[in-house]
Amino acid sequence: MARFIFITGGVVSSLGKGLASAALGALLQARGYSVRLRKLDPYLNVDPGTMSPFEHGEVFVTDDGAETDLDLGHYERFTGVAARSTDSISSGRIYSNVLEKERRGDYLGKTIQVIPHVTNEIKDFIHIGADETDFMLCEIGGTVGDIEGLPFFEAIRQFIQERPRGECILMHLTLLPYLAASGELKTKPTQHSVKELRSIGLAPDILLCRSEHPIPDKERAKLALFCNVRADSVIAALDLKSIYEAPLAYHRVGLDRAVLDAFGISSAPQPQLARWEDVADRVYNPEGEVRVAIVGKYTQLEDAYKSIAEALTHGGMLNRVKVRAEWIDSEIFETEDPAPHLERFHAILVPGGFGERGTEGKIRAAQFARERNVPYFGICLGMQMAVIEAARNLAGIADAGSEEFDHEAGGKRFTPVVYHLKEWVEGNRTVQRAATDDKGGTMRLGAYDAVLTEGSQVAGIYGSLSISERHRHRYEVDTKYRKMLEEKGLCFSGMSPDGKLPEIVELPGHPWYIGVQFHPELKSKPFQPHPLFADFVRAAVEQSRLV
Ligand code: GLN
Repeated sequence: MARFIFITGGVVSSLGKGLASAALGALLQARGYSVRLRKLDPYLNVDPGTMSPFEHGEVFVTDDGAETDLDLGHYERFTGVAARSTDSISSGRIYSNVLEKERRGDYLGKTIQVIPHVTNEIKDFIHIGADETDFMLCEIGGTVGDIEGLPFFEAIRQFIQERPRGECILMHLTLLPYLAASGELKTKPTQHSVKELRSIGLAPDILLCRSEHPIPDKERAKLALFCNVRADSVIAALDLKSIYEAPLAYHRVGLDRAVLDAFGISSAPQPQLARWEDVADRVYNPEGEVRVAIVGKYTQLEDAYKSIAEALTHGGMLNRVKVRAEWIDSEIFETEDPAPHLERFHAILVPGGFGERGTEGKIRAAQFARERNVPYFGICLGMQMAVIEAARNLAGIADAGSEEFDHEAGGKRFTPVVYHLKEWVEGNRTVQRAATDDKGGTMRLGAYDAVLTEGSQVAGIYGSLSISERHRHRYEVDTKYRKMLEEKGLCFSGMSPDGKLPEIVELPGHPWYIGVQFHPELKSKPFQPHPLFADFVRAAVEQSRLV
């Protein structure tokens, strides 16, 4: 049975709980333990799939097809452990399970209450797969004191109480604000947030304090005294230039040691940190720089394309260059020539997206990249845009478009080169969808295999003819147009195993023009960059030598 580490947050949100959890996971791994990380989110959406990326950042998709919180992306990037649908849960899902059971009569005529029915559901969830791993790290979204978080905190209290002593610890992440006028780090907000935790029956074993400065002994002693935590378990989480230094930085300030001490483990192996030393060296000592334009719609919030930004960084690390990614709103190109905006970049990436707004601009960006021989990487919607561009400008289908846009606006304005996929094969069953299906969880989601054409550029990049990548889309390039497009030079170099669904297109003769229907960014890791991102950055480096 696993040992459990619960991670809560106080004072303010956005302190980086997800990253701290991920880095701690990596440190425990470095000491030879197996870990799994899990996120418990108090919001009422059943999953984040229907939330706008503006609201909540990117939706991270697991191999088994769950749409989850972006923190699961951090967990995977730091530990390499593939997240599962059972690693992410929200109040919405918990309540929906409880209500489903109530309707089925599972509770035998009882009054259904938050305690014990909702809390039991949460505890059952925490337990899933706990016998497969040494440490289970469970991060609670939100901040202590939030009304909607209460059932989760109560469930943890019960959980800790019910497990044998010494099997669970609580790590609380807070903020120590720095008052420049008096030159002091203030401990009061942390004291208050620990008080809040204790009022609901929870006591932290470790205090992780975000701070701009190291914590002086006086403040450390004060925190230990007032928060009832050992002085050596008050850990400073200092600001870092790169998130990839986090495992090393937390090790330096003794986080892994404090966690093991809290469990009473004195015989843990020394951590093997070479992997993270290499990662930090590559991040901090690049030998050049490339500029990549990300032409998309959700440009105001960087978290909307979190995994893409990280995968580009990983590609840069492999090539020992810094990738300077700039977000450009594609709508600009609907009224302005893309050339003056895009000429200063060494490569162009068009990411995934939903809805028609901004798509004409993306098509123009794809055209610019194709005609000017600038490396182009189209991901999901970005591949669909590349195909529509080729259909319009190479194959002469002037009104080529996607059914997605006609569905949205009503009516029929486009020739549907990209159509609404209503039936596909998943493993050994056929999945069917209607145009009127619910919006939540009904896309083609999760890992699917693809077969690559021998001798194609992507086969060379992957070094394999069969791959598996994660999907999240409703629309698909129509193979009806394959022959016509191939005659004009666009090669369908990756297909679903049954040959029905185009997975990859590429443009032979162009330095790097690749569109993929899946999301390779979700599987990239700093210590194992995704081959497509690694090679895309390599192509950007080549391009930078030309201009
Ligand atoms: N909107 C497109 C579809 O549903 C693309 C989705 C995406 O880019 N993730 O097919």
